[in-house]
Amino acid sequence: MFKLFFGVFCSLLCFSTFANAVKEDVEKILSGHLTSGQSRELMDKLERNLPYSSVLDTARVKTVKCWFYDSQNDKNHIALNDLLTDANQATKKADSPKLKLDLETCQAFHLYQQGKVSTATSMTKNVISASSKNPELYYQHATANLILGRIFRSQGSYQQAFLAFQQAYNSFEQGGFSYDKALILKEIGLIHADLHNFLLAEEQLQRAINELTNYNEQEWYIATDILAQAYEAQSNYQKAIMLYNSILPAVTKYEDDEGSAYLLFKIAQINIQLNELQEAKQYLNQARDLTLNSEWIKFIQSITTAEWLIKKGRLDEAELLYLDFEQNSSQVWSVDSLTRFLEFKRELAVQKSNYQQEALAQRELLKIADKKVQEIADNTLLSQRLAFDWDQQKREITRLKESSEVKEQLLNLANEKAFWQIASLLFSIGLILILAYITYKQTQHKQRFKTLALKDELTDIANRRAIFAFKYNAIKKSEFLGSACSLIVIDIDHFKQVNDTYGHDIGDEVIISTVKFIEKNIRQTDCAGRVGGEEFLVVLPNTALSFAHEVAQRIRENIENVTHTSLHIKSTVSIGVVEVKAGEAPKDASRRADEKLYAAKNAGRNKVMV
Ligand code: GH3
Ligand code: MG
Ligand code: MG
Repeated sequence: MFKLFFGVFCSLLCFSTFANAVKEDVEKILSGHLTSGQSRELMDKLERNLPYSSVLDTARVKTVKCWFYDSQNDKNHIALNDLLTDANQATKKADSPKLKLDLETCQAFHLYQQGKVSTATSMTKNVISASSKNPELYYQHATANLILGRIFRSQGSYQQAFLAFQQAYNSFEQGGFSYDKALILKEIGLIHADLHNFLLAEEQLQRAINELTNYNEQEWYIATDILAQAYEAQSNYQKAIMLYNSILPAVTKYEDDEGSAYLLFKIAQINIQLNELQEAKQYLNQARDLTLNSEWIKFIQSITTAEWLIKKGRLDEAELLYLDFEQNSSQVWSVDSLTRFLEFKRELAVQKSNYQQEALAQRELLKIADKKVQEIADNTLLSQRLAFDWDQQKREITRLKESSEVKEQLLNLANEKAFWQIASLLFSIGLILILAYITYKQTQHKQRFKTLALKDELTDIANRRAIFAFKYNAIKKSEFLGSACSLIVIDIDHFKQVNDTYGHDIGDEVIISTVKFIEKNIRQTDCAGRVGGEEFLVVLPNTALSFAHEVAQRIRENIENVTHTSLHIKSTVSIGVVEVKAGEAPKDASRRADEKLYAAKNAGRNKVMV
């Protein structure tokens, strides 16, 4: 049981360690800590174990292998194509977007090396757009930009190259890839060097070198070599010589004989310019034991030797070398080689007082110089525009981030404050509205209560209280003014019967109809009120009995002569009329009016009694 458990545990652990090991090895290759030899060794080991049980591992190994090819070499070309087909299948199987993009970038790099620039460009651009805005794909985004930058630089599109490198740098920075970041600084240094802005080149290269000392020695000496060339171009020979010397052991270690020889000749050449002929001789001698096969390195050896001979005044030997060059002049010279040759030719002519040859060489040198000056003028301007202080940008980014954080906090606070301000404002407005509404409702209610208190609900004329108040005021007023005031009391006859025969609602309608005829016959200044169920009081200020009698008669006649309600009911009223006596209490006047009404009733109803 224990054995079984242990077995399962171990197989899980071992498998995962194994799976991690491939990933780690691939990462090690890309880390920048290994020399090219060490990388190749590790790559061989990884390839020996192919295929892996994990499709992802197989894809990983095949993708990274892509970078090990030199596609300019025809023999490699076919092998590379085979690998790409293979690796493409592997990444498809593994279904890894990262590896797919990695492989595409590598493929684009090889296409560019084979001279298929436009395909390579569009391919890297595809990778860039596929990986932008995805933090998971920073590395892919950066690498594609690195390749794109190299393509642009090789095409002389420095501005675009610079932008691509800038993108690459930022993505590497965000992904925390400091080795790769340093490689980008080297590329930017190269752009500035291309553009003859050696001060800027120096700045970026120095940064790259400082960082690369933490990684592999090869990338370090490559960057240092570029920096040395930048110093040399600025005629800062002391610094150039110091740097070339510092990388000499590393170059000897990693490069073949021709590579080492190139550096030795370089140091010799500068020493010659510095008139350190003894020193120069030492370096030339060191190169003598090396195997040099290529034409280009043989030319450099000859020209450096020729320059040394001239300085030494050994003109005959120099002349021999000169004739040698002239014979081989059919070959295409690089600008640098041609310049060195022409300078040597001129120097020899001067020494030999051959003015014609001197003038000839001088004229050709001037042509080259003219071109170069123009190129420098054009390019330095561009280079200045491309000036880019990484530290400054980093500080700027940090500052912006911090200030935007602060701003965000302030904004949040302000938003919060504004929210509460608006909330409290809304709350206040709401409260005011509610209060206003309540107040409005209260006034409305009050008004309604007031109305209710004064008006009869059924007939909309004054109710009992209101008509009694009006009667009181009118009598007091008439007393004060010494004018007459009359009262008319009206009661519907046999109203009980109406209710009993037609129902309470029709009874109500008869009351309303009766009021209509009362109102129709009284003046604006008179006031009618309902004092009981079917009993009404009309107060007529400034009215004597006779006029009140007439009014009462008209009311009685009107009501008698029409039919009421939809049922066309006949109805009559009995009426009592009095004129308020001087000094009579309103209560007493009302009682007298009531008595007249009873009299009318007793007289057979539908009568007016005064
Ligand atoms: P008369 O005055 O001619 O002697 O006879 P009457 O039938 O009118 O007698 P009374 O005054 O005694 O009766 C009044 C009736 O009026 C009693 C009550 O049911 C009815 N009444 C009182 N108020 C209202 C009301 O608001 N609507 C209706 N439909 N009936 C009412
Ligand atoms: Mg009555
Ligand atoms: Mg009645």
